[in-house]
Amino acid sequence: MIVMKFGGSSVESAVAIARVAEIVRERLLEKPVVVVSAMGKTTNRLLAAAELAVKGKREAAQAELDSLLAFTLGEAHESLRGFVELHFQELGAFLDELTQIAEFPAQYVDLISSYGERLSSKIVAVAFEQLGIASVHVDAREVLVTDRRHTQAAPLYPRTYAKCASLLVPLAEMGKVVVLGGFIGSTQDGFTTTLGRGGSDFSAAIFGAGIGASEIQIWTDVDGMLTCDPRILPGGHRVKVISFAEAAELAYFGAKVLHPATVVPAVEKNIPVLILNSRNPGSPGTRIVSEAVPCANVVKSIACKRGITLVNIQSLRMLMAHGFLLRIFETFNRYATPVDMVSTSEVSVSLTIDNTEHLDAIVAEISRIAEVTVHRDLSIICLVGEGIKATPGVAATAFGALRETNLHMISQGASLLNLSVVVDDSALPAAVAALHGEFFATLDEKVFE
Ligand code: ADP
Ligand code: ASP
Ligand code: MG
Repeated sequence: MIVMKFGGSSVESAVAIARVAEIVRERLLEKPVVVVSAMGKTTNRLLAAAELAVKGKREAAQAELDSLLAFTLGEAHESLRGFVELHFQELGAFLDELTQIAEFPAQYVDLISSYGERLSSKIVAVAFEQLGIASVHVDAREVLVTDRRHTQAAPLYPRTYAKCASLLVPLAEMGKVVVLGGFIGSTQDGFTTTLGRGGSDFSAAIFGAGIGASEIQIWTDVDGMLTCDPRILPGGHRVKVISFAEAAELAYFGAKVLHPATVVPAVEKNIPVLILNSRNPGSPGTRIVSEAVPCANVVKSIACKRGITLVNIQSLRMLMAHGFLLRIFETFNRYATPVDMVSTSEVSVSLTIDNTEHLDAIVAEISRIAEVTVHRDLSIICLVGEGIKATPGVAATAFGALRETNLHMISQGASLLNLSVVVDDSALPAAVAALHGEFFATLDEKVFE
C-alpha cells in the first residue's frame, strides 16, 4: 500500500482531477490510498466568506459563497449537484450564526474550513469512478481522531492507527482506491477539527503510518524540494534526496512544499516520503529518507520565512537576574505564541515570532520587568544541510555573501544543521540570490539536478 496526497492546485479543476486519476491509475498495483486537499483556493475563500459574516457583511459573505458554489458545481460531476448544494446550504446557516455572534470562534473556523476537503474528497472519488477507477469515499473525520485544540489539533495516534487498520486497510486490500480529505479530523466526541493550514501533508503521513504504507507520496505543483523558495528566487535546482531532519528543518523555516509535522509519523515508522509534481509526473521528485546521503555541497536548500517580528528585551537591572528568561518565555507560552529564534547577551534577549496576535499583551506584561522594542517586516533566511555542523567556514562563506545586507540576528540552530539570519523583508530577494549563488555555484550530481 502507498499513500498519494494531492494538494489544492493538483485538484483545482475537473481537468486537474482527470490528470490525477491517470497518475493514480498507473499505480493501482501498489494499492494507493488517496488524500486530497480542498480544490484550489477553496479554504481561503471559505474563511474569507466567514470573516465577512463575522463583520456583519452578510450579503458580501453570501456573494463569496455563491461564487464558490458556482465554481464547485462547474468542476464536480453532475450527479453531485444535490450533495454540493446541501453542503453550501449548511455553510449558509453557519454564516447566519456568525453574523449573529459577531465573532469567529476556533470551533467555527474548523467547521467551516472542513467543507473544502469534505467536498473535494467526494468530488475526486466520484470522478475516479466515472473514469473507471474503483474507488470509495471515506470521511476522514471517521478515521483521524484528534485532541480538542481547534485549528491546531494533534492526532491521537493509537486510536487513529486502529481506525486506519480497521477501516482503510480492508478497502485497499479489496482493490478499492480509498479517497479521503486531508487536513480534517474529529475529536472523540465527534467535533470537527483541523490540523492547521497546509495540514493535508500531515494527514497523508498519519494515514501512511496507520496503514503501514511502503511510501508516502506528496504530489504538488513543483518538481520537488528545490534549493530555494521559487516564490523568492526562481531557478532553483531540484534536490533529489534529503534527510528527514533536513526536510523538517526546511519545512519549519518556511518551505511550504511540506507541512512541518509531515515527517513525524514517517520517521517513526521509517516510511520514505516523496515530493512529486502532478503537472510533470515523469520527474523523479525529491526522496526524503532517514539517513542523509554524503554530499559535496554543505547546504541542501535555503528556506525563507516572511512576516517575522523581532522582539528585543532589555533587562531593567542591567543584569540578567536569574529567573528573567523564565518569566519571558513563560509569558510567550501563556499566550501560545511560538518563538522561532533566540539570542541572548548579558542584559538582553532577542527573539523572533511570526504570530503577532497577542503581541501587544505580551509586550505590556514584559514591560513591567524589562524594556521592550519591537521590529516588524523582517524575514528569516535559513540555510539547511547536514554538512553545516562539520564543515569549517560555512559562516564565513554565508556572511561574505551577505556583506551588503544588514543582519538583525544570527543563529546556528541547536539542531546544528541550520544557519539562520534575520534580514529586512525588503532585502530578502537579494540576500537569497547572493547566498544561492555562493552555495550552489557547483552541484553534487548525486544530490542535485
Ligand atoms: P500544495 O497545495 O500541493 O500543498 P503548496 O502550495 O502548499 O502546495 O506547496 C507548494 C509550494 O511550495 C510551491 O509552489 C512553492 O511555491 C513553495 N515552496 C516554498 N519553498 C519551496 C522549496 N524549497 N522547494 C519547493 N517549493 C517550495
Ligand atoms: N486546504 C487546507 C489549506 O489550505 C489544507 C491543505 O491544503 O493542506 O490549508
Ligand atoms: Mg501544502
